[in-house]
Amino acid sequence: MLSRWRECVQRGLRSRPAAALAWLVVVSAAIGLPVAAIDHLADRHLVADAERSAVGWARHIATNVPDLDLVFMGEQASTQAQDRLAAMRGMAGLFRFKLFDTTGRLLLVSDSLATPAPQGDDEGAVNAIARAVARGGQADVALKRGDGVQRPAVYSEAYVPVLHGGRPAGVVEVYIDQSELAATTAASFQRAALAAGSALALFFACAAALWQRHSGHVRHAEERVRFLARHDVLTGALNAASLREGLAQACAAAAGAERATDTPAAPTGLAVLCIDLDRFSEVNDAHGRAAGDELLRQVAHRLRDVLRGADLLGRVAGDRFAVLQREVADSTAVKALAQRIVDSLAQPHRLPGLAGEITATASVGAAIHGVDGDEADALLHAAELALQRAKAGGSARWSFYDAALDRLLQERRVLAHDLRDALARDALKLHFQPVFAAGDGQRLIGYEALARWPHPVRGFVPPSEFIPVAEETGQIEALGSWVLRSACREAASWPQPLAVAVNLSPAQFRQPGAIVAEVRAALAASGLAPARLELEITESLLMSHTEQVLATLRELQALGVRIAMDDFGTGYSSLAYLWRFPFDKLKIDRAFTQGLGADGKVDVIVRSIVTLAHSLAIRVNAEGVETAEQREALLRHGCDELQGFLLGRPQPVERLAHREGAPPQPAPGSVAASAAAVAAAAD
Ligand code: C2E
Ligand code: MG
Ligand code: MG
Repeated sequence: MLSRWRECVQRGLRSRPAAALAWLVVVSAAIGLPVAAIDHLADRHLVADAERSAVGWARHIATNVPDLDLVFMGEQASTQAQDRLAAMRGMAGLFRFKLFDTTGRLLLVSDSLATPAPQGDDEGAVNAIARAVARGGQADVALKRGDGVQRPAVYSEAYVPVLHGGRPAGVVEVYIDQSELAATTAASFQRAALAAGSALALFFACAAALWQRHSGHVRHAEERVRFLARHDVLTGALNAASLREGLAQACAAAAGAERATDTPAAPTGLAVLCIDLDRFSEVNDAHGRAAGDELLRQVAHRLRDVLRGADLLGRVAGDRFAVLQREVADSTAVKALAQRIVDSLAQPHRLPGLAGEITATASVGAAIHGVDGDEADALLHAAELALQRAKAGGSARWSFYDAALDRLLQERRVLAHDLRDALARDALKLHFQPVFAAGDGQRLIGYEALARWPHPVRGFVPPSEFIPVAEETGQIEALGSWVLRSACREAASWPQPLAVAVNLSPAQFRQPGAIVAEVRAALAASGLAPARLELEITESLLMSHTEQVLATLRELQALGVRIAMDDFGTGYSSLAYLWRFPFDKLKIDRAFTQGLGADGKVDVIVRSIVTLAHSLAIRVNAEGVETAEQREALLRHGCDELQGFLLGRPQPVERLAHREGAPPQPAPGSVAASAAAVAAAAD
C-alpha cells in the first residue's frame, strides 16, 4: 500500500507542472512558517519587556507613594501621594495607571488623581486582577494595539499585585507605551526574518536545483535504458527484434490500407533490403575488433544518409543490416535504393589510427511486400535469400528475391542434411577409374578414386552436386578423410605398382597442416607406399593463400606422395603455378580431349601443354578419352597417360580391371592385355 502510494507520488512528481506546484507549496511553507514564528517571538519579547517595566513601576509606586496601603484600603490618597503619583505619569512610557483593591474595585485613576475613581464593572480587569492575585504577585500582562492618537500604536496593559507582608494588598494597573520598542523590535526581527527567509529560499533553491538535476539524470537514464532495449549499442540502429516489430506493424498497416482503398493517394508499398559486408571478417582479422567496430559505425552512418526519414534501419547480426523501405511506388524505387547502398558502401573508409583507407563493399538482397511475401518473417527470409544470391554473383552487387532460387537453396539444404546422414551411416561408395600409360601397349598403371553417393530416393547423386554441398556445409573434411583412408586401404591390396589418385578439395587445405596429418595417417593405417598415392588438386586451390598452400604441397611431396594438377587449362592462371611448384603430373581437362580433331587449335594447345610440361619434367595425363580418334591424337601429341570411358569407366572395387575374373572393360583388347600383364607382374 505504502509503496503504491510512494510510486504514485513519484510518478506525479515526474510530471513537470505537478512537481512545480509541489515545490511552490513546500517553499511557501518553509519560508512562511519561520516568518510567522519570528512575528510570534517579537510579541513575546514585547510582553516580556512590558512585564519587566510593569513590575518595576509597581515596585516604584509601592516604595515611593506614601500610605499606599491606606489607599488600597479605600481611603482618599493624600496630597503628597497624589503629587508623587502625578510626577510619575508620562515617565518612561508610563502613560496611565490605575490602582485597584484585591477584589478588583477601582480606587484611583492617573487621569484624575484628586477625584474618586468611577465605579463600574470591568469584567476584564476583575479577571486579570484575580489571575494576578492568584499567582501570588506575578504580573498579568497583555500586549495591545492602539490607534496611535488616543492610545499608542503598541502598548502593554499590566496588572501587578503590590505585596504587603508577603500578601497582595492591592493591584496597580500600568499602561506602558511600547510603540518605540515595538518599532525597533519589529525592524530587527524583520531583518532576521528576511535573512532567515533568504537563507531558506536559497536553501530550497539549491535543493530544487539539485532535485531537478537528479531527476534530469534519472530521466536521462530511463530514456537511455528504453533506447538500449530497442537499439544496437554500437551503431545506434534498431536491434533485430525492434526492426522485426516495426516491419510487422508496417505490413499490418499496408494490408489495412490496401483493404481501405484500391488506389491509395500516396504509395504504401514496402520493401525489405538485407545488407551484408563482403569481407568484414578480413577487416577484423587484419586490423582488430576496434577497427571492425568503427567500420560498422561508419557503415550505419552511410546507410542512414541514403535512407529517407520514414525508412527504418536495423542491425540484425554481426555485419548484417536490414532496411525497411517505405512509400515504395514500384520496384524501380527499390532498385534505386539498393544501388545507392552498394555505391555508398563501395567508397573507401578511413578508420582512426589506421594509415590509408579500407574498402569494404557490401551486397544487398531485396524483397518487395505483396510480391515476395506479405508478412515480416517471410519478407526478411526472402531478402536474406536474395542477399545470398547477390553474394554468389560476387561482391558489391544487389539482387531481388527469386522463388526458383529459394527452391534450389531449399533443395541444397535437404541434400546437405541427407549427406550428413549418409556420412554417418558410412553409405558413400568409392568407384575407381583406370589410368593407362599411353605408349607401351597402354599398360594399366593405377586408378582414380571417385566418390559415389547412392541416395535411397534420388539414385546416384553425382559428385558435381554433392561435393560443393559438402564444401559449403563444412562436411568436406569428413568426406575427404573418408575417401583418403578408403582409397589407400583399397590400393594397398592391389598388385604393385598400381597407384591410386585421390581428389582433394581446396576446403581440405583451410586448416594449415591438417591435410598433411590426414595423408600421413591414411598411409600409416593402410601400409600403402607413399609413391603409390597421387593427390589431385585444382587450380582454384592456388588462387588464395598461395604461399601457405604451396608450403603444404611441398610438405606432402616430402612425404613421398605425388601431386597432380587436375582439370588443367580450365582455371585462370595455370601457367603461373608451373614454375612455382614442381607438380608431378598435369591432367589435361576432358574439354580439350573432346575438342581434339574438330578444331585444329585444340591440337596445337594440347601439344604445347605437353611440350611445356615435359620441358619441366612433368608427366601429362589426358582425361575424358571417349573415342579411338582422340586416343590416337593424344598419343601423337605425346601424352604420357590416358583416362576415359573408351579405356574404362569408374567401377566399384569388385569390378576393377586388374582383378581376376573382372568383367571385360569397354576398352580395346589392349587394356585387358595390360591388366593381365600387371597381374602377372604382381605374381
Ligand atoms: P575429376 O577429378 O576430373 O574426375 C573425372 C571425372 O570425369 C569423373 O566424373 C569421371 O567419371 C569423369 N570421366 C572420366 N572419363 C570420362 C569420359 O570419358 N567422358 C566423360 N564425359 N566423363 C569422364 P565424376 O566422378 O562425376 O566426378 C566429377 C568431379 O567430382 C571430379 O572431377 C572431381 O573433381 C570431383 N570428385 C569426385 N570424387 C571426389 C572426391 O572424392 N573428392 C573430391 N574432392 N572431389 C571429387
Ligand atoms: Mg580428378
Ligand atoms: Mg579432372
